[in-house]
Amino acid sequence: MAKSSQVQKRQDARKAKIMDIVWRTPRASRTLIQKTTHMSMESTLTLVNELLEEGLLLRAGKSDGNSVGRKSMILRINPDGCYGMGIRFNARCITGVVINLEHKPVLTERMLVPGDTDTAEILEMLKACVHRLLDGLKERSGRLEGIGIASPGVMDLSNEMVKRYVHVPDWHDVPLREWMQKEFPWPVSLEHDVKCTARALRMQPKYRHAKNMLLVQMDRGVYMCMILNGHIYHGSTNISGEIGHVCAVEGGWPCACGQAGCLETVASDSAFLEQIRQGMARGGFQKLRALAGKERDITIADLVRSSELGDDEASALLSVAGTALAKVLASAITLLNPDHLIVSGILATTPAFQSAFLRTVEGRTLREGLEAVMISFETYDDLINAAGAAELTLSRRFSVREVL
Ligand SMILES: [Zn+2]
Repeated sequence: MAKSSQVQKRQDARKAKIMDIVWRTPRASRTLIQKTTHMSMESTLTLVNELLEEGLLLRAGKSDGNSVGRKSMILRINPDGCYGMGIRFNARCITGVVINLEHKPVLTERMLVPGDTDTAEILEMLKACVHRLLDGLKERSGRLEGIGIASPGVMDLSNEMVKRYVHVPDWHDVPLREWMQKEFPWPVSLEHDVKCTARALRMQPKYRHAKNMLLVQMDRGVYMCMILNGHIYHGSTNISGEIGHVCAVEGGWPCACGQAGCLETVASDSAFLEQIRQGMARGGFQKLRALAGKERDITIADLVRSSELGDDEASALLSVAGTALAKVLASAITLLNPDHLIVSGILATTPAFQSAFLRTVEGRTLREGLEAVMISFETYDDLINAAGAAELTLSRRFSVREVL
C-alpha cells in the first residue's frame, strides 16, 4: 500500500473515532476528544476542523468554563451530515429506509410482494424501492453514503451473492450486490437480515454497550446473530448463526435441510402451521379454529392469541418450541458467556413460550453464565432490518462504529 494511502486511512480512522466519541458523549469538547484518543492537541484541532468543514460535526455552543474560567467549544453530530439507505426484503414485503447520522429514519418505504413473485420480479421491486427513496431524498442524495441490502437466505463466502432463498423457488446463486450495483452509482453492500437487525440494535441506547450479544430471530426460520467482543461473528464461510438447523429433537421430524429434528422443525412458523394442520385433521385445535373462523387460514398471530386466551393445545405447541430453543441456547450461553440474549419474534412474547424457555435454560446453564446474561423477549418490525442495512453503509466510512 502506498504511504499516502496509509496516511489517509489513518486520518479517516481517527476522524471516525472522533465522530464516535461525539456521538456517545453529550457535550463533547476538543479537550475531551484529545484526552480520550491520546492524539496531539494539534492533530485533534486539525481533524475536528476538517469534520466541521465537511459538515459532519456542528458547533453546539460553549461549556460553562473550567476552573480558570476558560470555555470550551461543545461539539455535536450534524444529523444531516450524511445518510445511509437500507432495503430489506422477503417473499412478502420490501421495506426501505433512509437514516441520518443520528441513526434516525428520515424516509421510509414499503411495498407488498404479491404471491408467486419470482427472482427477477423481486429484483425489479428492490430497484423501484431505491428509486422511490432517492426521489424522496432529492438533492440530499448527494450526501448518501451507500445502499445496504438486508437479505434472507444463505449467503456465499464473499457475501456478494445470496445462494438460496427457499421461499422464492427460482432463487439460485443470485449475485444480488452486483445486480444492484449496476443500477446505482452509490456503493452497494449486502448482509444477512438478522445481522442487520443486530447492527441496528447496537445503535439503540439499551444495547449500545452490549459487547457479547446473541440475537435469535424466530419467524419462517430460526436464525442467530452472534456479536462477540463487539464484532459480528461471521464464521469461516459466512454461514454462522444457522441455529435453526441444530438438532433439538433426537429422532424428530425431517427438515428441509436433509437432517431430522432440527430446531426449525418445532420452532418456526412453518412448523407450527404444519402441526396445527395435522392436529386439526385429527379433530384437535378446536379453540384455535373457532378463534380464526372457518373462512380463512390459521395464522401465527391466531396461535399466539389463542394461547393467551387459555387454549392449552396452542400453549403446548409454544411450550415445546420454548423448550427446544432453550436446549440449544443453554449450550450457547455456557460456551460463549454473553451479556445479552435477545429472543425476537411474535411467538417469543407469549407466556407459554417464555416460561418453558426460562425454566429449561435455568436447568441447563452454568449458574455464573446465567447470572451474567440479560435475557429479553422482543418483537421487531421489518424497519429495523432495513435500518441495520443502512447502518452497514455508514459503517464503511465511520468504521469505528463498526464495533460490530
Ligand atoms: Zn434442518
